[in-house]
Amino acid sequence: MSGVLPELPAKDLRTLIPEYAALARDAVLLDPEPGDPGAGESSLGGRLLWPVDEPWPYCAQEGHWTYGAGPRNTSEIDPGAVPMVPILQLFARDVPGLDFPEGKDLLQLVWCALIHEQDPGPVVPRLYWRSEADVVAGGLLSDAPGVNEGEYDEDHMPEPSTLSPIAASDCPTWLDVPEGLRDSWEPRLRAATDGSTWPPDSNLIGTKVGGWPAWTQPPHWPDCECGRRMEHLLTITGDVQLGDCGGVYLFRCRQCPGLPWDWRFDCH
Ligand SMILES: [Zn+2]
Ligand SMILES: [Zn+2]
Repeated sequence: MSGVLPELPAKDLRTLIPEYAALARDAVLLDPEPGDPGAGESSLGGRLLWPVDEPWPYCAQEGHWTYGAGPRNTSEIDPGAVPMVPILQLFARDVPGLDFPEGKDLLQLVWCALIHEQDPGPVVPRLYWRSEADVVAGGLLSDAPGVNEGEYDEDHMPEPSTLSPIAASDCPTWLDVPEGLRDSWEPRLRAATDGSTWPPDSNLIGTKVGGWPAWTQPPHWPDCECGRRMEHLLTITGDVQLGDCGGVYLFRCRQCPGLPWDWRFDCH
């Protein structure tokens, strides 16, 4: 288990600008390690605890193709919907810092691992909140579609990994600091660093829940229909190769009924 927080650089933004440290939010680094997680465990890219009475999600974007119904080596390749792949599963007991909706204690994330050009993005995620007890009581889907070799962009497939969540304190990327604050801090920073070296920010890079998005590009927060800016729910980055993309970021609004959520990605 690695899971040690990055060492604070000598000239960290938090030591130079105390107001920056005040923007820290609680986060949980998920610290995936390749392994063989069971459906009843929190995982990245592992099997999901899926209700038997709920069809597995498929992506039907135009241009997708799939194997026919016959044996692989005799099957034609047909256009059609493809099964989405498990990305993340989190049980509330493993991420005590995550506020689950009432009655829910299981979060699941899947996405389509085929290449989607620009629209709507490199991956198309779906998010589910469930009650573990309800899923178990109703019975589990035992034949979730497997991953067909060659059918997916391997870059978009996480290696099955167990998680070792660690509580951490997370600060925004420099560009996520409100512009007015940045403007007021800049002269102090330049004075403190002789203008030669720009201090690194203290945003945690890695797959994480809560905290601030680990944007690799300028921030692009979604707004909820209620007009509020959504909250950062989780970042997936680093542990899953996303081609030339830096990360996938999920957001939610806790003020609205219906558990609205949205997502963003950024590319280099
Ligand atoms: Zn797709
Ligand atoms: Zn809302």
